[in-house]
Amino acid sequence: CSGGLIVSFGEMLIDFVPTVSGVALAEAPGFLKAPGGAPANVAIAVARLGGKSAFVGKLGDDEFGRMLASILKENDVITDGVLFDKGARTALAFVTLRSDGEREFMFYRNPSADMLLTEADLNLQLIRKAKIFHYGSISLITEPCRSAHLRAMEVAKEAGALLSYDPNLRLPLWPSADQAKEQIMSIWEKADVIKVSDNELEFLTGCEVVNDEAALSLWHPGLKLLLVTLGEKGCNYYTKDFHGWVEPFVVKAVDTTGAGDAFIGSLLSKIVNDESVQSILEDEARLRELLKFANGCGAITTTKKGAIPALPNEIEVLKFI
Ligand code: ADP
Repeated sequence: CSGGLIVSFGEMLIDFVPTVSGVALAEAPGFLKAPGGAPANVAIAVARLGGKSAFVGKLGDDEFGRMLASILKENDVITDGVLFDKGARTALAFVTLRSDGEREFMFYRNPSADMLLTEADLNLQLIRKAKIFHYGSISLITEPCRSAHLRAMEVAKEAGALLSYDPNLRLPLWPSADQAKEQIMSIWEKADVIKVSDNELEFLTGCEVVNDEAALSLWHPGLKLLLVTLGEKGCNYYTKDFHGWVEPFVVKAVDTTGAGDAFIGSLLSKIVNDESVQSILEDEARLRELLKFANGCGAITTTKKGAIPALPNEIEVLKFI
């Protein structure tokens, strides 16, 4: 692996994905055990593309936690910031695959180990080495993980890291939609790079049509780059000076899990190696080239089942695009 370090912070869990779609959870004939959790997917996406990647979070000291830690290690993700909680279990998600291809989630977080990460647990030495610090919003929902999340962001920022935020909204996890919106927006202005999906943009702005006006209503003065992913329709990008659309790749999607994580992970793995983000922000052609690469990674990820098994390496992406 090469380049600056990208630290991803937050939850890692197991998705139980039914072997057939279009049936209720209890009627599924069987389940596949799929490792996931958006920040962990991003950590593996970066490492698979040859980047230097670390994950910070807490797992249960159980069969699932040990399985997840070995998946991180097998994928060359640095695990010095991963802890095991003696008393709590690893988070689990039970997925329903609807016949229209969308997914619904039910979570085991009662509380799960990821929610019990404390400020004292943080490996600050590792976090201070990050050139990019990436996080979501699920770890904001409850204490003590919320304080750990805020402290980790603060330490990374003070040490000069670029902060990258993908809210990765999973609405059923919040007590109410209002609280979800409030917590997501509470750290909005701290981020340098933000990636949202079209559905998240609708949720956060209340817009009926996903357009530039809606996206730009979320702009904040310190923001460097805002990305709106549009699934099979590609992505929109916004900087202080320009904005535009990068067309998608046409693929036969079988499972869209992890596409957004592949997209942002691959983009960060490129940004971290450029001299500075500033150089990309001043060069629209270069940004579009990187976003084409990111769209390619997202598209490839949809062509295989599961998130982590589908994340591509550099050669696969270059051949594909
Ligand atoms: P999220 O997983 O966060 O909802 P998206 O579904 O928008 O994110 O996917 C992220 C990126 O992956 C998209 O911007 C696009 O480039 C690519 N992608 C996702 N779904 C498809 C698809 N069905 N066909 C082609 N590309 C896709």
